[in-house]
Amino acid sequence: MSFEADIAVVGGGIVGMAVAERASAEFRDQKIVLLEKEKELASHQSGRNSGVIHSGIYYRPGSLKASLCREGRARLIEFCRAHSVPFEICGKVIVATSNDELPRLQALFERGVQNGLQAELIGAEALRELEPNAAGLRAVHVPEAGIVDYRRVTQALAREFNHRGGEILYGTRVDQISVHDQSAQITTTRGRLSAKRVINCAGLHSDRVCESAGLPAPARIIPFRGEYYDVASRAGTLCKNLIYPVPDPRFPFLGVHFTRMIGGGIECGPNAVLAFAREGYRWNDLNPRDLWETLTYPGFQKLAAKHWKMGLEEWRRSLLKSAFVSALKKLVPKIEPGDLTPRPAGVRAQAITMDGNLVDDFLIESQGRLFHVLNSPSPAATASLAIADFIVNLLKRSSINQPIDHLIRSPA
Ligand SMILES: Cc1cc2nc3c(=O)[nH]c(=O)nc-3n(C[C@H](O)[C@H](O)[C@H](O)COP(=O)(O)OP(=O)(O)OC[C@H]3O[C@@H](n4cnc5c(N)ncnc54)[C@H](O)[C@@H]3O)c2cc1C
Repeated sequence: MSFEADIAVVGGGIVGMAVAERASAEFRDQKIVLLEKEKELASHQSGRNSGVIHSGIYYRPGSLKASLCREGRARLIEFCRAHSVPFEICGKVIVATSNDELPRLQALFERGVQNGLQAELIGAEALRELEPNAAGLRAVHVPEAGIVDYRRVTQALAREFNHRGGEILYGTRVDQISVHDQSAQITTTRGRLSAKRVINCAGLHSDRVCESAGLPAPARIIPFRGEYYDVASRAGTLCKNLIYPVPDPRFPFLGVHFTRMIGGGIECGPNAVLAFAREGYRWNDLNPRDLWETLTYPGFQKLAAKHWKMGLEEWRRSLLKSAFVSALKKLVPKIEPGDLTPRPAGVRAQAITMDGNLVDDFLIESQGRLFHVLNSPSPAATASLAIADFIVNLLKRSSINQPIDHLIRSPA
């Protein structure tokens, strides 16, 4: 294969597909290709998540996550309506089950108000009316949260992209990018491609794609597996919509929850255990290179030294169903081990800095001909169309033949 394009997008998850679709709408006369290493779209994070349309309550006011989640949620709903992708704005409750969680619940509510949400603090009785089986002292009701199948959203974005002449090259892994005066040369498993702009949206491999282009990634991707159970029987009677715990601000992605799925049924989870491979969906998926790079990364070592107890607790919940069920029982006491059957896991791409901190916000860098999305954890599926607009606006700031001559990091 030898190919020339104006814009090449790496990665056919929801972020890459949204960027390609938005770019095809904005730059109609340009040749745009999307390179995906798998045989289909949304094979990793975008097709293996909780399917929640986040409202934006959790994120620090002023952060990219806060603004792009709100904007992305509105854009996503508009897109689903226009392209007949089923979704539902069913609302969710975030439930405090002990006194020590009440100040955090209050702080979360205030953050929601600051972020412009219509959230409401409710007592135990009002909670029972919304979710008769949820146990809690108080809760925040967030009517704007919803559910959707992000794989279907990604497929609908691909149809729009194809319709405007965009091309998707499946089974094409990007191994290296080198930048020259007139273009960037991309070496793939199927041959070479040259492009004037390259946008790296490679999710679990985004740091490697960035480094293959000679730019040191400011953080390394560490994979954390999130395991789920299906509530096979009694699903509708135990949970009506979405029941969430109060998050620990240090680890906002921890804490198992109940989620009604748009395709039917209720899902419980996810936990967060270190995966032994970037695409390690089961305990015995082990990639020696991935594991070695995780264990020898100073940032991971510092994080593990600080939070090993938390890590062990997540492992216990992964290995012992009874421990997983105890965590669920705090929210819905009637749930029993017999209600649960395992369902496929997902793996989060969490960027961690050299000094052992989780990168909390989305992280996007651009320099020269290259753009890199280096941290796109939850709520990036909700925010995908707004992330795409953000990148397309950066692209528009310089002409296609005149690359940006300095490093732009967002947030700055
Ligand atoms: C367990 C879990 C639950 C979540 N729940 C939610 C939720 O409810 N709501 C929400 O908004 N978000 C949620 N998220 C987050 C959301 O799924 C992600 O933020 C989003 O899917 C990221 O999309 P992406 O396109 O960046 O990455 P991905 O979906 O991982 O896509 C990256 C793509 O790049 C491809 N790729 C990688 N390397 C290369 C290469 N070298 N060459 C070519 N292709 C390459 C991969 O094959 C993949 O298809 C959840 C995530 C997880 C893991």
